[in-house]
Amino acid sequence: MEKLKNFIGGKFVAPHSREYLENIEPATGKVYSLVPNSDAHDLERAVEAANKALPQWAATPLEQRAAILARIGDLIEQHLDTFAEAESIDTGKPITLARTIDIPRAARNFRFFAHILEGFASESYEMPETALNVTLRQPVGIAGCISPWNLPLYLFTWKIAPALAAGNCVIGKPSEITPMTAFLLGKICQKAGLPPGVLNILHGEGKTIGSAIVAHPAIPAISFTGGTRTGAEIARIAAPMFKKLSLELGGKNPFIVFADADYEQALQTAIRSAFSNQGQICLCGSRIFIERRIYNRFRKDFVEATQKLTVGDPLKPTTKVGAVISKQHFEKILSYIELAKIEGGRLLTGGHPVKLKGRCKNGWFIAPTVFDRLSPLCRTNQEEIFGPVATLMPFETEEEVLEYANSVRYGLAASVWTRDLQRALRVSRTLQSGIVWVNCWMLRDLRTPFGGMKDSGVGREGGYEALRFFTEPKNVCLKY
Ligand code: NAD
Repeated sequence: MEKLKNFIGGKFVAPHSREYLENIEPATGKVYSLVPNSDAHDLERAVEAANKALPQWAATPLEQRAAILARIGDLIEQHLDTFAEAESIDTGKPITLARTIDIPRAARNFRFFAHILEGFASESYEMPETALNVTLRQPVGIAGCISPWNLPLYLFTWKIAPALAAGNCVIGKPSEITPMTAFLLGKICQKAGLPPGVLNILHGEGKTIGSAIVAHPAIPAISFTGGTRTGAEIARIAAPMFKKLSLELGGKNPFIVFADADYEQALQTAIRSAFSNQGQICLCGSRIFIERRIYNRFRKDFVEATQKLTVGDPLKPTTKVGAVISKQHFEKILSYIELAKIEGGRLLTGGHPVKLKGRCKNGWFIAPTVFDRLSPLCRTNQEEIFGPVATLMPFETEEEVLEYANSVRYGLAASVWTRDLQRALRVSRTLQSGIVWVNCWMLRDLRTPFGGMKDSGVGREGGYEALRFFTEPKNVCLKY
């Protein structure tokens, strides 16, 4: 069985404790690799390596830094199949998804930040006849980047790439339940010529190594993606230390279909938005609001299309819905399905585990599930389930649907479907959401600010927002 290692100072090293955690393949329920259970000793080594590498990396000319990052992106792409298979085995996601979305995007994250780095300008203000102010944007130093299990390499690199581009050294921690592609990334960085210590990857549990990173005084910025509760815990520790914090947290996103929308497009996208990656994307539209006039037709078609989604072995190219991440998460999703029934929901399809044959007979599969007749205010419609469970709700007016959409504690992403431009703009302005997609979903321009409001987080990633986060602005006032 493969024993993964930490990546510190450009080398692969065993954890100081020699302790390992079991890494389970969700599609089979079997342990298939061992993950370092890192602790504060490993962190000290990583901090030392990062501190040593920092002055030179920060002083490396932009073109050279950009060239190394672009090379990392190219090498990820060259090893697309290896990465995609590793991601699919680690997460239970369909391999086609890993091959077409997750891994290409991870490669693109590096190329994108390599590319925009040279256009990152700082402010300058003149006080006529008195002085010139120039704002320097200097690296923060060592950045801590902590990422979740649902889009492992995609989200890990979404943080690491801008942090490195801005001239920082990084201590990254992937989720302990999906460590494999982060481990492979270390090998790519070696090949790409990233200097030792610039990127260090520590594996292990959130409560040990994760919180040690957050609490370490030599790490002034923490970029975190994960659950809202964990985000609050991180803020509790980091805020009194005055660290920079970027928190990308949970969501419970509305998908709103007006009667004048392009019906087929809205329907197909609603299916994709509800069930991609088994509903385990923070952007998934799990609360689907449909204007009353088209409700019955939409419900019938949505249920029929849901029933056509093939649940199967994630490694088969025909599979549309793979395994959910863990036994614990499987049970959590099923408990929400029971809750929905108790809350008076009508189960329209799914609602049960799927037993596969052969290799995947002990895997954690759940049939895509659809409910209706639930109040927008019930727990099923207010809490993040993060699984293949969608609810359908009719609405009469724009005001009504906006009230429902905004009734949750979260505010990450919304999708609005209408051909009426005025309405699209009105609704977009009123939605409490960091991202609004009109007549689309998950259409990403990496230059745009990405993140949520309310309990979905603090700060924005993407484009120059990310480069701003990973730099310290210092104003230099030059008197004439
Ligand atoms: P999680 O909060 O349990 O863990 C995320 C990461 O934080 C893991 O690496 C974990 O080990 C680490 N961690 C856990 N406790 C920690 C602590 N006390 N200190 C430091 N690190 C700690 O989240 P998860 O279950 O891995 O991911 C699912 C959640 O992530 C969902 O709520 C989902 O909505 C959210 N998410 C948000 C976005 C976004 O961009 N807003 C994207 C993807 C996922």
